[in-house]
Amino acid sequence: TSVFVSGATGFIAQHIIALLISKGYNVVGSVRSASKGDHLKELYGSQFKYEIVPVLESEGAFDEALKKHPEVTVFLHTASPVTFTAEDNEKEVLIPAINGTRFVLDSINRISPQIERVVYTSSIVAIATPEQLRDPAYEGGEDVFSPITYEEGKSNGLSAYFASKTFAEKAAWEFVETNKPKFTLSTVNPVFVVGPQAKDEEAKGGVNLTAQIITSLYNLKKDDKVPETAGHFVDARDVARAHVLAFEKDEAKGQRIITVSGKFNSQLILNIIRKNFPELQERLPIGNPEDIDLSNIPNLKNTKSRELLGIDYIDFETSVNDAIEQVIKANA
Ligand code: NDP
Repeated sequence: TSVFVSGATGFIAQHIIALLISKGYNVVGSVRSASKGDHLKELYGSQFKYEIVPVLESEGAFDEALKKHPEVTVFLHTASPVTFTAEDNEKEVLIPAINGTRFVLDSINRISPQIERVVYTSSIVAIATPEQLRDPAYEGGEDVFSPITYEEGKSNGLSAYFASKTFAEKAAWEFVETNKPKFTLSTVNPVFVVGPQAKDEEAKGGVNLTAQIITSLYNLKKDDKVPETAGHFVDARDVARAHVLAFEKDEAKGQRIITVSGKFNSQLILNIIRKNFPELQERLPIGNPEDIDLSNIPNLKNTKSRELLGIDYIDFETSVNDAIEQVIKANA
């Protein structure tokens, strides 16, 4: 079986590609430039091919790539801007996310009737607002969409990302409803994705926004203030598993599936690093080791992912250990 992965360079996408290849699938990835594609080819070898799709959000952007690959029967759409600091929220975040999703489904529908399954990488932010994700009484669940408006999305970088994922996922379900394509859609809705990069080499430069939650603490100095980041986490390897199981399993057809392992804050990361990497103790701040009360963060359910997909989640200590070990190696 051949699987198309859009946004193949991404943190999550590379974990998906690595898993697909280990399971014997062939992969066609879309990238924005030949140099990025060649780099991935070096990392993933002969089961990996790439196609260049320079602009996500133009109509028919994927037509040529799809025409060249009539063997593809599964499409995983992961490409989307992941930033909270765009200069132009609408142009750089909202439009590529929303039109990119709508147009890619349209291309699949027109060009590739053999594609049976599409999995879209949505997000918890398509379900809950920033306020809800900080409200201990919030219970969540896969049956609602975030009430965020498009106008709010234009107002600041964080809202732009939240609105981009909300309206992109809505556009995907609307496309299916309106056009009754041959493929069935599933979405994976992860919380903050953490853990190591799929390949050690990718840990050498800067890593993606959410992987930095862990690795940025590695760079702190003794007297630095511990950042106040707190929230929900899921390991990228579990998110990759969810994508693959979402197209392998019939039970996942037409489903939205939240992936969440648990809750964390920066102090917890620091405590884990200090415990497991004694050689870093001198250099890193201590913070307040007791400050790991997570009761203000709501508990999100992962029942559906466990029952439908059978995912058994990686715990936080493992995610932190593996990410830090990799960063140490990369900086050696
Ligand atoms: P990365 O930033 O590592 O990957 C993003 C991917 O999308 C890259 O391949 C990037 O290509 C591509 N991309 C971004 N903007 C555009 C654009 N305008 N046109 C074409 N391609 C673009 O992020 P992640 O791996 O974390 O994210 C992947 C997906 O997962 C996204 O859809 C994101 O919304 C979703 N997600 C991520 C979560 C997280 O915590 N990380 C949580 C929930 C959902 P290039 O390398 O060329 O820039």
